[in-house]
Amino acid sequence: MTDEHPPLGLRPVADGAPVPGWAPVIEDAALEPLLRPGATLHRLAIGCVWAEGPVWLPHDGSVLWSDIPNDRVLRWAPDDGVSVSLHPAGHQNGHTLGLDGTVIACSHGRRRVERLSLDGTIAPIVDRYQGYRLNSPNDVVVKADGTIWFTDPPYGILSEWEGHTAESEIGACLVFRFDPHDGSLTAAADQLDMPNGLAFSPDESVLYVSDTAASHDPDGNHHIMAFDVVDGRDLRSPRVLYVVPGGLADGFRVDVHGHVWTSAHDGIHVIAPDGRRLGRLPVPEVTSNCVFGGPRGDRLFITATTALYMVDVATRGTVAAPAARS
Ligand code: MG
Repeated sequence: MTDEHPPLGLRPVADGAPVPGWAPVIEDAALEPLLRPGATLHRLAIGCVWAEGPVWLPHDGSVLWSDIPNDRVLRWAPDDGVSVSLHPAGHQNGHTLGLDGTVIACSHGRRRVERLSLDGTIAPIVDRYQGYRLNSPNDVVVKADGTIWFTDPPYGILSEWEGHTAESEIGACLVFRFDPHDGSLTAAADQLDMPNGLAFSPDESVLYVSDTAASHDPDGNHHIMAFDVVDGRDLRSPRVLYVVPGGLADGFRVDVHGHVWTSAHDGIHVIAPDGRRLGRLPVPEVTSNCVFGGPRGDRLFITATTALYMVDVATRGTVAAPAARS
């Protein structure tokens, strides 16, 4: 981390090159049916400083993702290559698809969760908790009932690198549940030092949330926690699902069988619902997040430091958004 602004103007460039000699690391036979034999990791676009927050847009078959220090949102589509979709972008970080097909974004710069409509307009969703400004919403997921769950660590206010330096008004890093039906914002979990990525199990009975406190404290947490979701809204029975050895689970997605595909320092780790690691998809850069997409939903897009990668797999991601089910 540094207080200096990163250099702007690193031009995003479409690449498409396969990563030479790439192969998954299978540690448990249960991983094999989730992979596509002979699949190769492709690097689709380069030129980011810190790529994060990928979301698949089914309406036009594109991926959006954040290049947070460069304050822009990039877009990749098979026929169009890579382009800048939004700049400035309020230092957006995590994205997810809303039930209506619009994109829900976490903005470090505006310290809020906001909606990015298909016509490019941006509208606030929530920016305060009990009158206090949020820290810097990091990642977000939508439940099938329309509630919006997000994490609020301080990464966007610690320096000018990923947002704007400021004090935390809340004085804590919480997991929030926002109900758009009545506008209520509820603190759902306070057991994490720096809550970051989050995703529901396929039946939404479990919420996974990562803690990336080790980003600033060598002795800090670097694990994914699991919570039971009681009555569709309350988080109970927190336990550690998986400790990322020597790295962080910045962001992750869950497949239809309940496996967690999490970012780590060395690529994607695939974790069974019981916490067992089934294997790894190596990526040649520190990896931040991933999302399932593609026409059949079985294409894993991976954000990793400077680039967007892609590998075809044999499973699909869970989706709460009806627009993504077609
Ligand atoms: Mg994150």
